[in-house]
Amino acid sequence: MSRARRSNDWGFPRWRGYGSSRETTNVRLCDRHGCDEPGDCPAPKSPNSPERWYFCQKHAAEYNSKWDYFEGLEKAEAEARAKAERAESAAYAESAHYGWAGSGDGSRSADEMRALEVLELEADADFAAVKKAYRAKAKEVHPDVKPGDEEAAKQFQALQLAYDVLRMAEERREWRGE
Ligand SMILES: [Zn+2]
Repeated sequence: MSRARRSNDWGFPRWRGYGSSRETTNVRLCDRHGCDEPGDCPAPKSPNSPERWYFCQKHAAEYNSKWDYFEGLEKAEAEARAKAERAESAAYAESAHYGWAGSGDGSRSADEMRALEVLELEADADFAAVKKAYRAKAKEVHPDVKPGDEEAAKQFQALQLAYDVLRMAEERREWRGE
């Protein structure tokens, strides 16, 4: 009888006792730092996670009482991470998660639509319009114009990224003779 199997039917927040099997198996110690009590109360490391902490009853109760607190922390961490990722140039790979739809006729990808939105252009904008909008907007937030302005630097990056996405899409279309 493995611990993993025993914990399969265990649902938070109901603790499940193990009965007498504890005496005959190697006793796992409580995962709480510095605690030498047997850790026989599994607790999910995060909601819906198959990974478990194993605490003694006292620390299980403590963990249980802080559940929302831990969950909040994880959420904040996840949000901070997502924010950092969005700031990176690879962020457009995530665009599908934010519900960006492609254009109606399917000629534009979701990334292109997002890029057009950044440049405040319509779906049917041609590349000359893209260039023009990019230059005008980039000029406003260029690091030379707004040195040390973090918000402007982010906008500048977003504009560059949007332009790159559209430029590459344009090149692909030209290559295919469209
Ligand atoms: Zn403990």
